[in-house]
Amino acid sequence: MSCIFCKIAAKEVKSSVVGETERFIVIKDINPQAPTHLLIMPKEHFSSLVECNDGSLLGGMLETAKAVAKDLGVDERGFRLIINTKEEGGQTVFHLHMHLLAGRALAGKMG
Ligand code: 5GP
Ligand code: ZN
Repeated sequence: MSCIFCKIAAKEVKSSVVGETERFIVIKDINPQAPTHLLIMPKEHFSSLVECNDGSLLGGMLETAKAVAKDLGVDERGFRLIINTKEEGGQTVFHLHMHLLAGRALAGKMG
């Protein structure tokens, strides 16, 4: 297994884990772009959003992001979710994950 996020999900590589469910792990991004910058990822490997056809898992990822935002207390002020997908989408780690950014007014809206 060469995927860094699979290794993180399996606890073979250390990361700052914020929360975990049966299907998902939530960690702090190693290079934060906002006061709160988390990564929500399924433990199961999908190389990108395109390769994941499990609607229930994708819905669960959004529900997990909402729950995390609520736990962090940013659900009222707001936050941003991003799924960079493949090369032109800016994806650099090819294991499906969603960014949760919060804690300041986020600049720009679209790429
Ligand atoms: P992408 O560019 O694929 O949308 O997002 C990948 C993110 O993973 C980047 O924001 C990067 O900082 C983060 N990242 C890459 N390697 C690691 C790591 O080993 N640990 C953690 N916590 N984050 C990582
Ligand atoms: Zn993986």
